[in-house]
Amino acid sequence: MNGKNIVAGTYIEVNEKSLKAVNPATGLTLDGEFFKANEKLVDDALTAATAAFQSYRNLNKDLKAAFLNAIADEIANLGEELVNRASAESGLPLARLQGELGRTTGQLRLFASLVAEGSWVDAIIDTALPDRQPLPRPDIRRMLIPIGPVVVFGASNFPLAFSVAGGDTASALASGCPVVVKAHPAHYGTSALVGGAIIKAAEKTGMPKGVFSLLYDDGYAVGAGLVQHPLTKAVTFTGSFKGGMALINLAQQREQPIPVFAEMGSINPVIFLPLAIENQAEELAKKYAASITLGAGQFCTNPGLLLAVQSPALENFKTALKEAISTVPSATMLTEGIAHNYGKLSAEVVNEDGVVLLSASTVKNMELQNQSEAKIAQVSAADFIKNPKLREEIFGPYSLLVVARDHAELEQAVEVLEGQLTVTLMAEKQELRDYQALVNKLTDKTGRIILNGVPTGVEVCAAMQHGGPFPATNDSRFTSVGSTAINRFVRPLAYQDWEQELLPDELKDGNPLGIFRTVNQQLTKSHE
Ligand code: NAP
Repeated sequence: MNGKNIVAGTYIEVNEKSLKAVNPATGLTLDGEFFKANEKLVDDALTAATAAFQSYRNLNKDLKAAFLNAIADEIANLGEELVNRASAESGLPLARLQGELGRTTGQLRLFASLVAEGSWVDAIIDTALPDRQPLPRPDIRRMLIPIGPVVVFGASNFPLAFSVAGGDTASALASGCPVVVKAHPAHYGTSALVGGAIIKAAEKTGMPKGVFSLLYDDGYAVGAGLVQHPLTKAVTFTGSFKGGMALINLAQQREQPIPVFAEMGSINPVIFLPLAIENQAEELAKKYAASITLGAGQFCTNPGLLLAVQSPALENFKTALKEAISTVPSATMLTEGIAHNYGKLSAEVVNEDGVVLLSASTVKNMELQNQSEAKIAQVSAADFIKNPKLREEIFGPYSLLVVARDHAELEQAVEVLEGQLTVTLMAEKQELRDYQALVNKLTDKTGRIILNGVPTGVEVCAAMQHGGPFPATNDSRFTSVGSTAINRFVRPLAYQDWEQELLPDELKDGNPLGIFRTVNQQLTKSHE
C-alpha cells in the first residue's frame, strides 16, 4: 500500500511527520506508513486541479462517464483487500462494508449514467424574437456549468461511501470539477487504496493529471489550508457540528467567500401517534431498538429522539424497548475519540433535569476496545422543552424517549426541534388526517419525512434528499446523496446571441437531449 500523498496523478515524497493507522477494536497499529501533507502540497494540488479544470470541464460527456465507470471498476477490483482494510480501520463488520462497497461503486455508476444522458445541465433556450415590439428579444440560452476545484473532507462513519470516492467526489467529478480529498485520519489505508484506484482509472481513461489529489493529515492545518486556498471553489464536509462550522467560518472569511456544503448531524426525531403505538407496541419497539443500535448508532440518520403521548400502550412499548436494548451487544466504535465522546455524553445526559436511564446494554465485549453501550433514556416533554442540551446529537447507539401529557404538549415539543435530516411519523392511516397541523410543522423541520419506516438506510436515487434545515446542514436546498447532489458544484451561465457553432452542444438548435426550451413564452420539450 502506498501511503504517500497523491498530487496531480503522482505519489509525492514529503519529509513531514509519518502517520500510522490504528485498529479501534484492538488498539494495535496497522501496516502502512502515511505522510502528513504540508502547505506546498496543498498549493500544488490546487494549482494542478485548476489547470486540469480547463480541459476537464469541457471533456466529452462520454469520456467523463467512462472515467467514473473506470473508478467503479478499479474499486470493485480491490474487493476483499479494501473491505478487510476498511473493517480493520473502522471496526465495522465485513458484511456492512461489502454492502458499502456496492453502494460506492453503484453511486459512481449512477453519476456516470447521469453524465452520459446529459439533461442534468438543465438547458433552457429562449430563441430570439426579432419582431417583438417595442423591442426585439435577444437569443438567450442557459445551462449549468461546473464551478472549479472542489475540496472533499472524507467522513469517518462511511469509509467508502462518504469518503475518498464517495458521493461527494463522484458528484463533483460528474459535474466537471476536479477534486482534492483530505483523507479522514480514521482510515488512512482505506483512503490510500481508493486513491490508488482513482489514479489508475484516470490514467486508463486519459484524464488530465490534476483531476484528483489526496492529502493526509492528523490535525487541522491541511484541511484549513485547503479551505482557505484561493483556487478552491467549493467544499464538502460530513462530520461534527463543530468541525462543519469551523470550515464554514473559514470559507466566509476568505477574500472571495466560497460555498461549504456541510452535513453536521441530526437527531432524526420519530413521532409515534397513539393508534400506531396501541396496535403495534412490541413490533415498533423491536424495529426501533434495531435502528437505534445499527452500526453502533454511527449513522447521521440514527433515530436519537422518540416522541409520543403518554398512554397504557406506550408503557408496553417502553417495556419491549427496554428489553430489546438490554440485549444488544456492545460494538466497536469508529475511533477512540468517537467512543470517548459517546461514553461521556451518554453518561452526562442522565444528570440533566428529569432525564432517567430506562435501559442499557448488558452484553459487553470485554476483550475489545472502544466499545459502545446501547442506551435508552426518558424525559417528560415539559423538561425536554426547557432544556436545549437534550436536543443535541449524541453520536452512537443512544435514543431519548420524550413523553408528552397530551397532543398539545407533543406539538410544543416538536416546535422546539432544530432542523433535521429526517423526521419519521409512525401512524395508522386513519389518524394522519387528524394530525395535519403536526405534519405541517414537521415538514418545516426536515429534508426527508418518512412514514412508518425507520430513518436509517438512505437510498441513493434521483429523488433522495439528504440535507435539511440548519443545523442538520448549512444549506437545506441541496443534498449530499442522490443524483441531484451534482447541483452543489455548478452555476448557471446564460449565453446571449451566440453563434450556433460556438455554443456548447447542449444549447445548439435541434439537440437530442430532451432539453426544455421556451419559444414565445410557451414551454415545450425539444424532443417532443
Ligand atoms: P469531525 O471531528 O467533524 O472531523 C471530520 C473531518 O473534518 C476530519 O477530517 C477533521 O480533521 C476535519 N476537521 C474537523 N474540524 C476541523 C477544523 N476545525 N479545521 C479543519 N479540519 C477540521 O468528525 P469525526 O472525526 O468523524 O467524528 C467526531 C464527531 O463528529 C462524532 O463524535 C460525531 O458527533 C460527529 N459525526 C457526525 C456525523 C454525521 O453524519 N453527522 C458523521 C461522523 C461524525 P482531523 O480529524 O484531521 O482533525
